[in-house]
Amino acid sequence: MIQEAIIRYLRKRQQNALTPKVVLFDMDGVLFDSMRFHARAWSEVATKHHLIFTTTDFYLFEGRTGESTINELFRRTFHRNATEEEAHAIYEEKSRLFNSYNSRVPMPGAADVLEEVAKAGLRRLVVTGSGQRSLIDQLNQTYPGHFERDKMVTAFDVKLGKPHPEPYLIGLRKAEAKANEAFVIENAPMGVEAGVAAGIFTIAVNTGPLPDEALTEAGADLLYPDMASLAKDWRRIMEAAAAIKESGM
Ligand code: MG
Repeated sequence: MIQEAIIRYLRKRQQNALTPKVVLFDMDGVLFDSMRFHARAWSEVATKHHLIFTTTDFYLFEGRTGESTINELFRRTFHRNATEEEAHAIYEEKSRLFNSYNSRVPMPGAADVLEEVAKAGLRRLVVTGSGQRSLIDQLNQTYPGHFERDKMVTAFDVKLGKPHPEPYLIGLRKAEAKANEAFVIENAPMGVEAGVAAGIFTIAVNTGPLPDEALTEAGADLLYPDMASLAKDWRRIMEAAAAIKESGM
């Protein structure tokens, strides 16, 4: 299954080999088990501002910038975008609520994935649309020795946000890697779209309430139910990539 996925990726990209140097990790729902707190904060703030939403929306919107989520809800409810002041105020409120919850829970199995990736000699970078400084600052405490602050891609680096490939393209640039020298690990449909649009082999981990199809239809090259099962398979993924390179496919 892994081998076929890599071959499919290489054919689509007209590449000869997948020679990984770096893994680009999404943050929310991949490194932190934080999505339910985001969804809760968004739901509360949207209710307060009389915006039309369902809880699943916030899992489907994941990866977008805060402003883009607010505009989507405004268009749906009021048939216009939010003003800059409205968007700013609502995002502040949402951030305050989010920070007041216990949102710094590590994703089970994520530390194991990071260890496997480090053991395989690959670099680790975070690529997130999040502007939540509390979580970004938490990364090095939760996962010491894995991430360099100046190599992180956050809301402060990106203009467009996922599903646009921009965040992952910036990640590749910071890692000085080509698309076929990287993996993306994502939990959100728009994040998967962004990784795929950047030309990177994208591994989806379904850590939330959406159906698997939401991730496969977004173009995920591989799909795992959780980070622990991805950690168990990491060596096999590396071996499959190396075997295909040797056989000169
Ligand atoms: Mg995510």
